[in-house]
Amino acid sequence: MKVVVVGAGYAGTFAANRVAKKVKGAEVTVVNARPEFVERIRLHQQVAGTATVATPLTGMLRPGIAVRIGSVEKIGDGTVVLDDGESLAFDHLFLAVGSTVRALPGTVPVGTWEGARQARAELAALPGGSTVTVVGGGATGVETATEVAEARPDLRVRIVAPAVADCLSGGARRRALAALDRLRVETVDDGVTEAADGMVRLRSGRELDSDLTLWGIVAGVPDLAARSGLEVDADGRAVVDAYLRSVTDPRIFAVGDCAGVAGARFGCQTAAPQAQAAVDALARLAEGREPEPYDLRYVARCVSLGRKDAVAQFTHPDDSLKDSHLKGFTAVAFKRMVFTGTRYITRKAVSA
Ligand SMILES: Cc1cc2nc3c(=O)[nH]c(=O)nc-3n(C[C@H](O)[C@H](O)[C@H](O)COP(=O)(O)OP(=O)(O)OC[C@H]3O[C@@H](n4cnc5c(N)ncnc54)[C@H](O)[C@@H]3O)c2cc1C
Repeated sequence: MKVVVVGAGYAGTFAANRVAKKVKGAEVTVVNARPEFVERIRLHQQVAGTATVATPLTGMLRPGIAVRIGSVEKIGDGTVVLDDGESLAFDHLFLAVGSTVRALPGTVPVGTWEGARQARAELAALPGGSTVTVVGGGATGVETATEVAEARPDLRVRIVAPAVADCLSGGARRRALAALDRLRVETVDDGVTEAADGMVRLRSGRELDSDLTLWGIVAGVPDLAARSGLEVDADGRAVVDAYLRSVTDPRIFAVGDCAGVAGARFGCQTAAPQAQAAVDALARLAEGREPEPYDLRYVARCVSLGRKDAVAQFTHPDDSLKDSHLKGFTAVAFKRMVFTGTRYITRKAVSA
């Protein structure tokens, strides 16, 4: 059985390793845009220079898995076409192309490897006293603003969003806002409509000086599913059945950020469990057994606040927030466990 995995982030790498481990006789080929595995949940550290978060992809994959570096242009009837014009045949395909950023011109995106590398270089070149603006008040924006402010106390850092840290609630949100305050990050409750050399313009019409503007928002998914004729939802994610198979072509499983699962949020906490459920469904089908449906389950939302602080608010399985949260060193340890644990289970393809 020929299995092609498109995209080697958390979902694709996990899926490739688990197919190689669990589906007898499968020949697995991974197609990824770059030869590195990027720990995307740590890109804010890449930006601030507190870690280097890419490792060779081959080191993350089980022996015997073939790797093609390139971009898939189109998925056809049992084949994928790469950007170099070559095509690969498949019996089953895992679509794991993740999510994208739609950065405003004049800003540097945090949520892509290329953007994070550029941001790191531009940040390192900024003289003391310069101003950095982080756009976006979700987890990515807050993690970036606090990481940069802690690593570069000689800079003026601000975060601009209509509602900063609103991915958290109650005491957990207050804790995140207090950390921004402690690290002297200025919070501006507004939106950015334009960014150009040395300034940002806000929705309210105000203009602020900004030597480097970082786009800390992850939104949208690559249009590969849509342009390949697969049914997609309003967000462009591939519509799937209970076993994460495309409703257009059941040979194709969609996993991770690009899978159209109601109630799912972008997260490594979504990627690995979906990859596990989809591969296990394929393994069962290949053995003539009934597959088990995917069951969405969340545990917590965990936001780092620099290297010495973090907050982790617990959630119900449907991702709605509970009142309880961890803070300080306990939350820092929890967050470390999230990224080391995720990396481990992705490489080993053990139960997520
Ligand atoms: C700064 C930051 C912090 C985050 N923190 C957290 C966190 O603490 N917890 C959490 O749960 N989530 C977090 N997230 C979100 C999380 O990173 C994503 O949800 C997760 O990476 C999704 O995994 P994925 O495998 O679906 O996609 P990705 O990790 O984005 O991987 C997709 C891969 O597919 C490749 N690709 C795309 N198109 C093609 C193509 N046409 N052909 C070949 N390859 C292609 C990409 O290059 C990439 O390698 C964070 C995100 C950011 C940016």
